[in-house]
Amino acid sequence: MTTRVVLLGATGSIGRQALDVIARYPAEFELVGAIAGRRTDALLEAVRPFGPVPLVVVDPEGPPPDRVGTGLDAASALCGGPGVDAVLVGGGAAAALEPTLAACRAGALVALATKEVLVMAGEVVTAAARAGGARLVPVDSEHSAIWQCLRGEDPATVARLLLTASGGAFLRRPVASLTAVSAADAVRHPTWRMGPKITVDCATLMNKGLEVIEAHFLFEIPYPRIAVVVHPESTVHSAVEFVDGLTVGQLGPADMRGPIALALTGGRRLPGVVAPLELAEAGALHFEPVDPLRFPALTLARAAGERGGAHPAVLNAANEAAVAAFLGGRLPFTGIVPTVAAVLADFEPPSRPTVAAIWAADRWARGRVAAAVRGDGAAAGAPVAGAPVAALPER
Ligand code: MG
Repeated sequence: MTTRVVLLGATGSIGRQALDVIARYPAEFELVGAIAGRRTDALLEAVRPFGPVPLVVVDPEGPPPDRVGTGLDAASALCGGPGVDAVLVGGGAAAALEPTLAACRAGALVALATKEVLVMAGEVVTAAARAGGARLVPVDSEHSAIWQCLRGEDPATVARLLLTASGGAFLRRPVASLTAVSAADAVRHPTWRMGPKITVDCATLMNKGLEVIEAHFLFEIPYPRIAVVVHPESTVHSAVEFVDGLTVGQLGPADMRGPIALALTGGRRLPGVVAPLELAEAGALHFEPVDPLRFPALTLARAAGERGGAHPAVLNAANEAAVAAFLGGRLPFTGIVPTVAAVLADFEPPSRPTVAAIWAADRWARGRVAAAVRGDGAAAGAPVAGAPVAALPER
C-alpha cells in the first residue's frame, strides 16, 4: 500500500528533495497534495511530473489559477484531510504551524523538517499529536540520527542525547574579529548547502540552540540531558549515550533525502536512497566542546527552553529578525545574539501559550528587534553590538 503524502513547503529545499524521493519510489509514495508559502509558479512547476494534485498557496504573490487554493485554512484542510497518511512539514513556520496542528489532530504521520514549529509551539503541537494519535517523526538530520539510535531501546536507559554541531563558518576565526564579518562570509557553510538564514544560525550556533529545544519536545528529554558537541566534519549526525556508558551514533553523507525517506516511511529503510558513506575515505573525525564565549547563542537558547511557554517563540522570532538585519547590513554579526537576549529579557509571557498568544509573542519580538536595529529602541533595551550576553534574569 502506498503512503499518501502531502508536502508542506513544496518549493523549498526540503520540499524539492522530498519530491525527488517520492518520484523515485512510486510504489511507496503517492503525492496527494502540495502547499507553498508564496510562489504559485514555482509550485506548479515543481509538481508538474506528478499530474493534477490538490495545491494550495498560503499567501500568493499574485492571483493563482482557479484550481489552486489559497490561505492557511485551505492548507490546514489539505493537511488534515481524510485521504492523507503523511504530511511532510518543510518551509517557513508562518505557513506551517496551523496546517501541522491540523495534521496532528487528524492522526497523520507528521514528518517534521521545520524545526520552528516545535520551537515556537512545542507544548501545543505535542499535545495535539497525543490527542489526535499522530506520530511526530524528525527530518532534521541530527534528530533523525537520534531517532535511529533510540530504536529498540528502553527510554529509561537513555543517559544523554549528544547533538553534533559543525561549528559553522567561523569556528576557527578569532572571536575579537567577528564584529567585522560580512553576510557573504557568514553564508558559506563548511559541510551543508542550505539557505542564508539557517547558515547564519549555524555560524552563531543558534541553529543548534533551536535544535536542543526541538530535541526536548521530540524525545521528551529534560534540557540538562541534551548535550552539544562540535564536530566540524558533520559525519556523525548525532548520538545517544546510554546508562551503561555505551554511546550509539549515526553516520552518513550530508544528504537530506536519507532522513526524508526514513521519516515518510515511518522508519522503514528503502534501498539506495543515498550514496553510502565510504568510511575508509571519510578521513579523520574531530570532536570538541562548545566554547560558550564564542557561541553565547547556545546558552541563551537553553535558558529560553527551560523557561518554556512562549519564550522559545520569542527567541526564534527575535533571532529571525536579527539575522535578517545582519544579512541586510543593518546589524553586525556580533549584534545578533545580544539583540535576541535583550528582547528575551524584556518579555512578559502570556499565562497560557495558545497559538494566538504565540503569534502575538512572535510579532512583539520582531517589533522589538526592528526598533533596536533602527536605534530608537532605548525602551527595547537596545543592545550594544558585541556586548557580552547576560544570562536571562530569574523570575
Ligand atoms: Mg539540523
